[in-house]
Amino acid sequence: MQAIGEPAYRGAQIYHAIYAERRFDFAEMSNLPAALRERLAREAAIELPRIVRRHMSSDGTVRYVLGVGEREGEKPATIEAVFMPEENRQTICISTQAGCAVDCRFCLTATLGLMRNLSAGEIVGQVLVALEDNHAGLKPQTNIVLMGQGEPLLNYDAVMSALRILLDPNGVAIAPRHAALSTSGIVPGIERLAQEKVRPNLAISLNASSDEQRDQIMPINRKYPLEKLLEACRKYPLRPREWLLFEYVMLGGFNDSPEDARRVVKLLANIRAKVNLIPWNPGDLPLKRPERQRVEEFQRVLIEKGVPCFIRDSRGQDVMAACGQLALAEAAAATSSGASL
Ligand code: SAH
Ligand code: SF4
Repeated sequence: MQAIGEPAYRGAQIYHAIYAERRFDFAEMSNLPAALRERLAREAAIELPRIVRRHMSSDGTVRYVLGVGEREGEKPATIEAVFMPEENRQTICISTQAGCAVDCRFCLTATLGLMRNLSAGEIVGQVLVALEDNHAGLKPQTNIVLMGQGEPLLNYDAVMSALRILLDPNGVAIAPRHAALSTSGIVPGIERLAQEKVRPNLAISLNASSDEQRDQIMPINRKYPLEKLLEACRKYPLRPREWLLFEYVMLGGFNDSPEDARRVVKLLANIRAKVNLIPWNPGDLPLKRPERQRVEEFQRVLIEKGVPCFIRDSRGQDVMAACGQLALAEAAAATSSGASL
């Protein structure tokens, strides 16, 4: 605002109007003088990711295919976000990159490769679109999870800028304890996050009980093996009532035995940890979903050893909105035909 000859506090007013009041039209920013509103309407634009397509699941989950970077001179990309309504809250799952370079064997997003990093605006924009689009039915609590496409800690600066706006009480005002960032285990990123004053909960995709196993499904493990990863976790300065969440995708016959469970207990010794077991969601990949009874037995072993452990069945499986299924098979077609529901 200063740069265009306006008082600096107008910037804070616009910030508040966009992020706290979610007004995306300058004409509606009644806290600004009329002349400035007109000037901004002429010289500036507020743009949210474009909804290319909505997929509605029978369980209420909505998967959004979103178009970003569609202005001239930008690099267009198609990404996904997922809206999950629950009884007293909603959870919004957002992407941090278009595609992903990490190449985990069980994840469909990996098959896309990395198209590009998302900007802070494109990351925040996904939350704003989901909130706007479900405006009428919003519940008192909103959770944000950075578990869509991409590895958040490989796009660190944009992700942190986005989080500062999302978690700012004067911005989108999500409570930090209601936000979670999930990483495949990028150790330098975890060490950086540990220094941040405001930060989301940290979730680590463990997914295996030994290096040998993890090497096979997560090539990133060769760079940051379990010992280094868990050392960074042990050093992570947890606050009172804060936990590290370990996600464990269960692959039938691969990492789902009681011995695996006992090894996981040992790996997590001395870490204030919770574990989420995620039965693998099928894609067009040569892997198996685990048997229910194996998942429950695995959970029993952890709980008996004092590690809190939950089974998380992904939502929205009928519309490919579940963990690891965000990969736009038909979205490319939808974009080219310009279809929009
Ligand atoms: N890139 C980050 C965040 C996105 S993935 C990460 O890997 O942590 C979010 C979670 O979905 C991760 O825990 C990942 O292990 C899990 N996941 C990926 N593919 C899956 C699949 N097909 N079924 C179940 N979970 C999957
Ligand atoms: Fe990337 Fe996460 Fe999928 Fe691995 S699981 S390929 S890090 S999105």
